[in-house]
Amino acid sequence: MEYEAVIGLEVHVQLATKSKIFCSCSTEFGAAPNTHVCPVCLGMPGSLPVLNEKAVEYAVKAALALNCRINLKSIFARKNYFYPDLPKGYQISQYEEPLAEEGYIEIETEEGTKRIRIKRVHMEEDAGKNIHGEGNDPYSYVDLNRAGIPLIEIVSEPDISSPAEARLYLQKLRTIMRYIGVSNADMEKGELRCDANVSVRPKGSDKLGVKTELKNMNSFRHVQRALEYEIERQIEVLEEGGEVVQETRLWNPHLGITETMRKKEEEHDYRYFPEPDLVPLVLGEEFVERMKAELPELPDDKKRRFMEEYGLSAYDAEVLCADKALADFYEEAVKAHDNPKAIANWVMVELLGRLNKDGRSISESPVAPMQVAKLVKLIDDGVISGKIGKQLFDILYREGGDPEVVVKERGLVQITDTSQIEAVVDEVIKECPEEVNKYLAGKTKVIGFLVGQVMKKTRGKANPRLVNELLRKKLDELKG
Ligand code: ADP
Ligand code: MG
Ligand code: ZN
Repeated sequence: MEYEAVIGLEVHVQLATKSKIFCSCSTEFGAAPNTHVCPVCLGMPGSLPVLNEKAVEYAVKAALALNCRINLKSIFARKNYFYPDLPKGYQISQYEEPLAEEGYIEIETEEGTKRIRIKRVHMEEDAGKNIHGEGNDPYSYVDLNRAGIPLIEIVSEPDISSPAEARLYLQKLRTIMRYIGVSNADMEKGELRCDANVSVRPKGSDKLGVKTELKNMNSFRHVQRALEYEIERQIEVLEEGGEVVQETRLWNPHLGITETMRKKEEEHDYRYFPEPDLVPLVLGEEFVERMKAELPELPDDKKRRFMEEYGLSAYDAEVLCADKALADFYEEAVKAHDNPKAIANWVMVELLGRLNKDGRSISESPVAPMQVAKLVKLIDDGVISGKIGKQLFDILYREGGDPEVVVKERGLVQITDTSQIEAVVDEVIKECPEEVNKYLAGKTKVIGFLVGQVMKKTRGKANPRLVNELLRKKLDELKG
């Protein structure tokens, strides 16, 4: 039987506020353990939480950017469970009445644009961190610096159909969070954490299968690999006549497999109830409107504008808009020289290729937008060939410089002098009788080889269009 996968993601995003969600402790990363704590985040009896307004602003902005409906009234609730990293014995979260609902994220799949619906976005606080002694250290430790850092949880509908789509969804989510400046959303740093729910069903069926929940993936690649493994595992279970058990499984990155963590019966009953120490969160329409007005142009809007204004494909626009700094780089270059398609190509292929290889971000690019613009202009003006352009790009990337000056100094200027090219064409015709005969016998494709020879002799500097023209003219003359 053929199966299809159904995936829904629960993502936690750490909000980049300076202080925690219910106290004024610092959220700064990397401090000595238990130095950013106070009676509130330590859960001391008698201490009372006070909601951080900045956290609400960030959460509302995030929800708006995810196309959600904001609930003007939402309720904080206690999620009760026992764990050493949770001194209060409960986490303050939102349950029945979350901050926002019914949004979506668009991803660019091979089949085109796909909408993944978002069920809800709610606010909550982070827990602390357990650290287990290594080697012959028999102790475990608890660091509560992280306890009380503001998070939003973003729950998708089960609209994701493959591990690759899950990855695209997460990448898009990260892009959006970075654009609006509410989180750096770096998975490696735990600023974006993902639990993945997955089930399989006969292809085309509209009934959901039994799902498992996967935890412990700390990169996009691991999310994708864990899902790939788990989908195969579930299909195997079903093919062997078994049943998938609803459970939570841990991704083991060393073995590349998922392993049972707890079965459904062992799931906690969180005994949610409204947080008695906090009033309901009530937002004014004006507040929401102000948040909306403060949002920058969002990635999808920018993408659509790039497609309309610059005539780019959806794919190219998506790549360029994946990073705001990259989109800005591109637009600056286009402003300096009006050839948006060519500039997109040079940025995506030549620049991004080199940056990725060197592990650099666009803000660390040794080549500036103006240099790319000038390079493309030199090609468009017929001063250099595209091939020399690549050589020039290499020089600009490694050594810098003004493209026009580099071209002059290194003698990269294209040969457009007909008599000069003609001489080389004659040479090539003399040196390649075999190919010439083939051409004369009607195998005109061989012209490509002959053009290549001329380009080689001129070290790529001959104008390829002229070379082509002259070669054809000479060969046709030979035909008589
Ligand atoms: P639970 O009550 O087990 O937490 P939820 O309804 O809250 O389940 O959904 C949690 C996540 O799991 C959501 O992202 C949802 O889209 C996804 N999900 C729900 N059912 C399935 C299923 N059968 N297969 C895959 N994902 C699912
Ligand atoms: Mg749930
Ligand atoms: Zn505190």
